[in-house]
Amino acid sequence: MAYDIQKIRSYFPILKRKVYTKPLVYLDNAASTQKPIQVLKAEERLHNDYYGNIHRAGHYMADKSTIDFEEVRGKVQQILNSPSREEVIFTKGTTESVNLVAYSFGERYIEEGDEIIVSEMEHHSNIVPWQLMAERKKAIIKVLPFNDNGELQLQKLDELITPRTKIIAVAHVSNVLGTVNPIREVIEKAHEKNVVVFIDGAQGIQHTSVDVQELDADFYAFSAHKAYGPNGVGVLYGKKSLLEEMPPYQGGGEMISEVTFEKTLFNELPYKFEAGTPNITGVIAFGASLDLLKEIGIENIAAWEKGLLDYATSGLKEIEGLTIYGESRNKSGVVAFNVEGIHFYDLGMLLDKMGIATRTGHHCADTVMQHYGIQGTLRISVGMYNTKEEIDLFIEALKKVIRFF
Ligand code: PMP
Repeated sequence: MAYDIQKIRSYFPILKRKVYTKPLVYLDNAASTQKPIQVLKAEERLHNDYYGNIHRAGHYMADKSTIDFEEVRGKVQQILNSPSREEVIFTKGTTESVNLVAYSFGERYIEEGDEIIVSEMEHHSNIVPWQLMAERKKAIIKVLPFNDNGELQLQKLDELITPRTKIIAVAHVSNVLGTVNPIREVIEKAHEKNVVVFIDGAQGIQHTSVDVQELDADFYAFSAHKAYGPNGVGVLYGKKSLLEEMPPYQGGGEMISEVTFEKTLFNELPYKFEAGTPNITGVIAFGASLDLLKEIGIENIAAWEKGLLDYATSGLKEIEGLTIYGESRNKSGVVAFNVEGIHFYDLGMLLDKMGIATRTGHHCADTVMQHYGIQGTLRISVGMYNTKEEIDLFIEALKKVIRFF
C-alpha cells in the first residue's frame, strides 16, 4: 500500500498553521508528537456523550466509560502482543512506569550489595529512579557503555553481569543518538544469567514494531504523547510472574479488594498498580491513536521515517563544521548535531523564527553529553507526517543561519 502522506497530514490540522508568518515545520517529535483529529474527536465524544468515573459505579455512563477504557487496554495488549490484558498497566507516562518498577521491583527483589545495570545512553528518567532505589537499598549502579558511533558495547555486558546483578535498564531507542538498541540480544544475555530486563520504549513503540513475547521482555514502558496520543498517559507492560510478586507502588482506591484498619487485601492485576482515578479521557483518546498506528502500519511508518532520516543526514553531512552524534547502523529518525563555532541555542532560536521547531539542550541525557564532552546539541526528530520538502526547508534555513554567523 502506498504511503498516503497527504491523507496522513490531513489528520493533523495543526500542521497547517504558521509560526512567525512561516509555515510550521515540526521536527521535535521525540519530545512529543502532534495529535490527530481522531484523538481530539475521541476526547470530545467522551465528554459530550458518556463521561463517568470508571469501574466503580453501576450506571450507564460509568459502564460505557469503563468499557471504552478497558477496550484500550486490549488495543495496547495487541500492539505489544502481550500474552494477557492483566500485564498491561496504565501509568501517566514512561517516567512513572520506570519509577513504579524501580520502587516495587526494588522493594521485592533488591538487597544490599545487589547490582543494577543501566546503559550510558539512558534518558534521565531511566537513570534517576534506579539511583533513588539503589540509595534506599544500598545497591550498586553499573554502566553499560556505548562507542562513539552510539552503539552499545554489548560484549561488555558479559563482564558487567555478576551473580549480584538483578536488573538491567536499557532504552529501546536512544532519544539523542537515535540508536535502535539490540534489545533482544540484551534480554537473551541477561536471561542466560537469570537477570531481569526493563526496556524504556519511549522512543520505540511509535517507530518500530514491538512483540514482547518474541523479545521475551520482562518490562516494556512507553508514553502515549510520543505516539500521537494525549499526554498524561503511559503504559507499563510487565510479566505476570514478576508483577504478581511485586508490592503496590501507590495505595488508594481501585488497587484494593478489601480494606479494614487491621489489613488491606490488594486487588488483582492490573488494578493493583492503578491506584486512584486514572486518566480516563487520555486513555480513551489514546485508543484512537493506536487505531491510527494500526491503520497506517508501524512498518510503513518506519520505512517512511527511514527515508527522511537518510535524506536529512546526507543534507546535514554536506555542511562544513557540522558534527552528528550517533551514527549507529540501526538508527531511528533522530539526528543530534552541533555546528562548529555556533551555540546550539542560537541555532535553535533562529530556526524557530523561521518556523522550524527543533530541540536544543542536553535532551535529558547528560551522560550522553558527557560521553562526547559537550554541553548540548540541536536535535531534529521526525514523525509519520514529516516530508522531504520539510527537510529541505530545515536544511536551507540552517544554512542561512550559519551564513548569518
Ligand atoms: N525515555 C526516553 C528515551 C525519552 O525520550 C523520554 C522522553 N523524552 C522519556 C523516557 C520520558 O518520557 P515521559 O516524559 O513521557 O515520561
